[in-house]
Order: sequence, then structure tokens, then C-alpha cells
Amino acid sequence: MSTQTPHYMIVGGGITGLSAAYYLKKRLESEGKSFRLSIVEKSPIFGGKIHTLERDGFVIEKGPDSFLARKRPIIDLAYDLGLENELTGTNPAAKKTYIVRQGKLHRMPPGLVLGIPTQMTPFMKTGLISPWGKVRAAMDLMKPKREAVTDESLGHFLERRLGKEVLERIVEPLLAGIYAGDTFKLSLKATFPQFGTMEQKHRSLILGMMASRKNVSEESAHLPAHVRNSVFVTFKKGLQTLVSGLLEALQAVDLRSGEGVAGIKKAGRQTEITFEDGHSEIVDGLILTTPTHQSARMLAHVPAASVLQNIDYISVANVIMAFDRKDIPFELDASGFLVPRSEGLTITACTLTSAKWLHTAPDGKVLLRCYIGRSGEQEWPKLSDDELISKAREDIRKLLGLEAKPLFAEVTRLMHSMPQYPVGHLEQLAQFRDALAVSLPGVFVTGAGFHGVGLPDCIRQGKEAAWQLADLNEA
Ligand code: FAD
Repeated sequence: MSTQTPHYMIVGGGITGLSAAYYLKKRLESEGKSFRLSIVEKSPIFGGKIHTLERDGFVIEKGPDSFLARKRPIIDLAYDLGLENELTGTNPAAKKTYIVRQGKLHRMPPGLVLGIPTQMTPFMKTGLISPWGKVRAAMDLMKPKREAVTDESLGHFLERRLGKEVLERIVEPLLAGIYAGDTFKLSLKATFPQFGTMEQKHRSLILGMMASRKNVSEESAHLPAHVRNSVFVTFKKGLQTLVSGLLEALQAVDLRSGEGVAGIKKAGRQTEITFEDGHSEIVDGLILTTPTHQSARMLAHVPAASVLQNIDYISVANVIMAFDRKDIPFELDASGFLVPRSEGLTITACTLTSAKWLHTAPDGKVLLRCYIGRSGEQEWPKLSDDELISKAREDIRKLLGLEAKPLFAEVTRLMHSMPQYPVGHLEQLAQFRDALAVSLPGVFVTGAGFHGVGLPDCIRQGKEAAWQLADLNEA
């Protein structure tokens, strides 16, 4: 540590980096420490994947649109920033969700949690699964638990417990919204560790899910009263509210956008950062929050960082379309629908955005959001924006009978944006972290590519890295 005021740097100004900066500043200030803090972001604006657009009275999310209310880190942050009254929940009149099966929309049976049945009567009545598929899923109630507790793929686990039909027709399309991945390549322990824990504790996944449902009211106790009944929550003016709140709280910090970091290496007891324009700086502590393929390049001097290259990222696109209410030929009483791979359509899901989130469209208007791209369906980047719009419209016409031309359409291309945690991810990360602590003490690497992709998980990881850096500074 130098004798001057220590200089800490956060690389990446997405939600992980901004949260890391916020909690590092808060902690060091509470300890009366003097410090200099910089956030370096390659793009011209902060927020990373979060991008809210206001257009003609619509609130349009071009990246993430909401978060799971039961996950505390984001709610705690909203309170910390004085933004709790800005939170809003989903429209209770649009709770239904549909899944496409053979070109028709089928209502998702009530009681499914992450696609796992917790109420057997509606599940047994659904037309989504064949009679044999239902019997196979119910075998979960009798099947013994797996003895080995080593990692396995999410797909293998779910097929083993519930059978192929439930996996392919319900769970995989549902989880595509989070990972856009091939469930047979995703790590169970890194994505849904609770499933494995339930199997070990209750033997059956269905019984485990039923037992954990009893705690739902406890899980929402931390929420402001006006959103307590909502599973998903967002901000009335969009997720940009959170980014703006963080930037306001970080006003005294050196906020540097439009500067890309190229390399990171040891410089005695400090760390040297080389920038893409060729200049370099020495810092006393660093938190790196860029996507893992970028972080691996910056850490080329650390052999253990090669594991970060093994984390694949899927590219996805969104086609968001606005319509006049009078042109919509269906009820707006659902949040949207999911499309399994076997349907052979371009879109993977569609959210009836303005039905689910009432604040997103002006009166008399409707907003729809179509999702494109998942593992194994990565041909779409070759298409132009107009082609993507026309393919999304074609699917919507077939499924919902919507012929009208949109008032406008916004296409977002999120290239290499969804990390795919491979089987053995947690063990590989632990080895990487041990090696990093030896070769680059004072450097912490985190973000969506590590321990959770959701916004609350990113905030948690940013905070954890900030505390680790502050702890090191105390030692
Ligand atoms: P990022 O947001 O990717 O930030 C990393 C930053 O690093 C970027 O700003 C980038 O420009 C910067 N950077 C890169 N290279 C350099 C460099 N060399 N030097 C300096 N800076 C650099 N989660 C939810 O909870 N709810 C949702 O509804 C939801 N929907 C999603 C929809 C989509 C389409 C996608 C792609 C993700 C969604 N997610 C959602 C996940 C969530 O949005 C992300 O996991 C999260 O925003 C990632 O934050 P991050 O800060 O870790 O990374």
C-alpha cells in the first residue's frame, strides 16, 4: 500500500460495478477512511445491460425489465437510495401466462414454480403434457434421490426427476428467459442449487417445492407494502431509475465513461492498469466487473484466468412493438407466452408488456416485447432489423391473430450477453479465485458471469467484492 491516499478502481459501469462502487464508498466513509475511487466504463454511458428508453409516452426497457421481488439486495439498495416509493409491481389482472404447444396457446397450469408443479390437480388437467408425461412427472414423488452430490447439468437433473416432456415443454422455455441456454450444458449447482438441495432433503423435487412455498409471505416481508403481492417488481420510470440513483450517490466519485481497460498486471504491492489508448495507471485495489470473456483478456498474465474464457455467452435480440389498443384482437389479461424450441418459431417468448406493467404505455396504446435467440438458435444476427421485425410480426400474427402494423418498433441486439455457467462452474471459479489472490492480491473479479445473472445477484456480488476489498485494506 502506498503512503498516499489509496486509489481504488472499479472497471465496468454496469449494475455490478456501480453497486460495488456504492458499497465501497459507503463502507470506507463509515470507517472515516480517506480514499480516491474511480469507475471506468468503456461505453459512453453507465448502466451496462440496463437501458430504459422513453418514447412517445412509452417506457421501454431494451435490456432487463424487472427483478424478483423476494431477492433482498436490490430492495435494500432501493431503500438505501431512497427509491422505495418508485417501485411498482405487476398488474394483478394480467397474471396468466401461456405456453405454445403445436401452434396453440395453452394456459400455464396454476401452481407451477420455476416450471415445477406444486399443485397436482391443475397440472394433471393441462393439455401441455401427455398422460404419460404426467405419470412420468409424478414418478418424482417416488423416485429415490441421487446419492452423488457432485454437480450435474440442469437438464439432466430435471429429466431425471420429472421426465423429458416437462423439461422440454415447460421448464426449458421458462428458463430460457433467464439463461437462453441449453439446459444440458448449464450447471445445476450454479443456476438452481436449491433444486439439488431439495432432492437431498425431501427426496422429491415436487415435495421440496411444495414445502418451500409455505414461506412465500415471509419472503415478501422486506418489501414496501404497495408491492408486497407482486412476484416481480420494477421502477415506475424504468430500471434507469436505479442507475440514475446510484450515479447521483456516486457524484463525488471519479466517473469515467468512454475509457476501455486493456490489461491488468501486478506492480509491486499495487496493480497496473493499461488502457486501450495505451496509457497506464497504478491503483491500490481493483474490482473488475466486465463480462468474463473481457475480464479473461485483461487478465492474460494470470494463467488461472483462462477458465473465464470457457464461459460461453449467448446473443439475444428483442423486438419491441407499439400498437393502438383498437387494433389488438385479443384480451390483455395475461403477462405473455413462452415458445418451446420444438415449435420452430423465430421468437422464444413474448411479453404483453403494457398488460403486465401498466406504467409502460399511454392510455389507448399497447406495448409488446418479443424475444429472439437462444443456445442453438444463433443464426439471427445475420438478419437485418427489418427482417427481425417482420419475423416477430409473422409469429405474432400466427399465434395471436395480430395483423396491424406497429406504430413503431425498437430492435435491440444484445451480443454475447447471457452467460452460460458450465457444469463444474463453482469449483472452477473457486480455483480461479485462489490463484488470483496469490498472483494479484487486491484485485477482485466478479459480475454476472460468476454467481448469478439476475440484477439482485449482481448487486450482491458487487457488494461482496467491495467488502472483500475493504477488508483487505483493514488487514
Ligand atoms: P454489464 O451490465 O454487462 O456491465 C459490464 C460493463 O463493463 C458494461 O457497461 C461494459 O460496457 C463494460 N466494459 C466491457 N469491457 C470493458 C472494458 N474493456 N473496459 C471498461 N469497461 C468495459 N436480470 C434481471 O434481474 N431481470 C431481467 O428482467 C433481466 N432481463 C435481461 C434481459 C436481457 C436481454 C439480458 C441480456 C439480461 C437480462 N438480465 C435480467 C440479466 C441482467 O441484466 C445482467 O446480468 C446484468 O445487468 C449484468 O450486469 P453487470 O454489471 O454484471 O454486467
